[in-house]
Amino acid sequence: MIFRQLFEPQSSAYTYLVACEQTREAALIDPVLETVDRDLALLNDLGLTLKYTIETHIHADHVTGADRLRDKTGSKAALPEKSGARQVDVAVREAEPLHVGRLVLEPLYTPGHTDDHHCYMLTHPGAERVFTGDALMIDGCGRTDFQNGDAATLYRSVHEKLFALPDDTLVFPGHDYQGRRVSSIGQEKVRNPRLGGGKTVDEFVAIMAALNLPRPKMIDVAVPANRECGEIQTA
Ligand code: FE
Repeated sequence: MIFRQLFEPQSSAYTYLVACEQTREAALIDPVLETVDRDLALLNDLGLTLKYTIETHIHADHVTGADRLRDKTGSKAALPEKSGARQVDVAVREAEPLHVGRLVLEPLYTPGHTDDHHCYMLTHPGAERVFTGDALMIDGCGRTDFQNGDAATLYRSVHEKLFALPDDTLVFPGHDYQGRRVSSIGQEKVRNPRLGGGKTVDEFVAIMAALNLPRPKMIDVAVPANRECGEIQTA
């Protein structure tokens, strides 16, 4: 397996490259428009063919590179069916795995940050990892106050879907604002100050209600663009 964790500093967003060493097929999870050229150079350097761009959800803080990458490489844009996005090539649904060469990505429906959010499990032997988007972050989680978010729903998604995975599954989040790169299910179960350590759903709902975060800066541009796979509307 070929794996790279890539970072976009403006939105502190991680993009993940996963590729099959034998077939040279690749996928990019949550690519960002601003870093499309970097991603294309990396694919070229590694001799890979981009099969899919895969979104965890409709982002409010950055525009996806899906449409631009599709233009340049012929890749297919995979987005959760529940996003209602247009121009989608592959509608993602739980229990319908995506195949990248010999690698398999299993979508897990994990609403709560948004109502379309999916995590992706990579079950490659010896390299089990889950791409958690904004459902579960290192010592944190995504906000639940926009895009049909709901704290109690996120709590259930994390506890029933993610915390049910083996403890040594690596957790690769959609963002980190402090330079951290990876965690594990076992670590988050014990240490996550919002969702772990035996926190109840009521405690979590109270924590999320008290955050008082500012409105997402990019939401008015990013959400409409991402509903078109990242095509910017100029009209
Ligand atoms: Fe998000």
